[in-house]
Amino acid sequence: MHLKVIADNCTACGLCVESCPYSAIEMRKDTAFISMEICTLCRACLPVCQTGAIIEVSGLTEVSQTLSYTGILVFAEQRNKKLASVSLELLGKGRELADDLNCMLSAVILGNDIKEMADELIAYGADRVYLADNPQLSDFNDDAYTEVVFRVIQRYKPGIVLAGATSIGRSFIPRVAARLGTGLTADCTGLGIDKGAGLLLQTRPAFGGNIMAEILCPVRRPQMSTVRPKVMKRIEKNRQRQGEIIPIIIDNEKIPCRARMLDFVADLTSTINIQEADVIVSGGRGLGDGKNFKLVEELADALGGAVGASRAAVDSGWIAYSHQVGQTGKTVAPKLYIAIGISGAVQHLVGMQSSDIIVAINKNPDASIFNVANYGIVGDLFEVVPLLIKKIKENQ
Ligand code: FAD
Repeated sequence: MHLKVIADNCTACGLCVESCPYSAIEMRKDTAFISMEICTLCRACLPVCQTGAIIEVSGLTEVSQTLSYTGILVFAEQRNKKLASVSLELLGKGRELADDLNCMLSAVILGNDIKEMADELIAYGADRVYLADNPQLSDFNDDAYTEVVFRVIQRYKPGIVLAGATSIGRSFIPRVAARLGTGLTADCTGLGIDKGAGLLLQTRPAFGGNIMAEILCPVRRPQMSTVRPKVMKRIEKNRQRQGEIIPIIIDNEKIPCRARMLDFVADLTSTINIQEADVIVSGGRGLGDGKNFKLVEELADALGGAVGASRAAVDSGWIAYSHQVGQTGKTVAPKLYIAIGISGAVQHLVGMQSSDIIVAINKNPDASIFNVANYGIVGDLFEVVPLLIKKIKENQ
């Protein structure tokens, strides 16, 4: 049993706040918020609520489990001592959620000889860092990472756990959730706090991207999500921030692992990862033929950028899927995004509209891409793009 506020019914009259003998209720953004960590289920608020906004939710026998879990934990992913940018983005979002919930934001980082990276996480918003620094963790390994992150969660009991929906996050975070017996919402594109119950509101595309689902995990703890890179904004780095570093001691204990790394082979199909690029030049169906992608590549080369593509171009077999931008491709947010012969379907726009500057080249003045573009060039791409390349090269 627990209490829940139906936000739509709440008139913010404040009677429930006055009625609570334990000060478990407060007003947040014009809606009553019940802290289930303080609430004793005395039910004094129920009869005073005139609009039926506070209700008892039954059948949640494990609510007592939820009470001992507080705070937010971000899995900070690193490789070769370089933090994945999604981890910094999650610290930014985690900071916002922790301030909303008035709780601690912590991070867990695994690796070998990575002590100095803990300060970096504090500078980007963490109040506390769990540092698992051990030679056994020098390379990513599903079994080892699952074991260590599982132990940290069991011991420190965060209410919310966030990780990047990267290859590493997608690989081991579901195992951690399964071992904890809790739920996991994979590949989220939005996170917030449900005003009534203080639960994590997890948003992700569902049914092939045709609807956006909002998912709650009301019973089990922690509430766990993996989040797509580039959909959240990191906060400014602040070297003055203070935080606590807690070493996770593994000593000489051998962590059982069923796999070992033999070699690392880099993906050679794309020279620049589009999610890390500052400049992206993308081509669409308007190119008319795969061989015309060389125009896009030439412009990207001249600008020192990466090549992106619409799904129509990928589906036509003109370029590999790893270049696809959009709902079922990658989400990108470069400083400059140039869309060539791309109409601007909503599924493409969701993957690139948070770019700083968008330039669109399209022969149709009514193309939707112009609605999000900072600069639009209406014209034939086969005339415009060679001219652009020529001008850029002249100025180099
Ligand atoms: P078109 O829509 O055909 O546009 C081509 C454009 O080129 C037109 O605007 C035309 O005016 C212009 N053009 C033609 N010739 C020239 C020329 N010579 N000079 C200048 N301009 C010219 N799409 C994605 O991109 N990414 C996704 O991740 C994605 N996921 C999807 C998921 C779902 C569930 C669904 C249903 C669809 C998804 N799509 C996605 C597909 C999306 O709906 C569009 O079909 C696709 O983005 C269209 O690609 P396009 O803009 O290249 O082609």
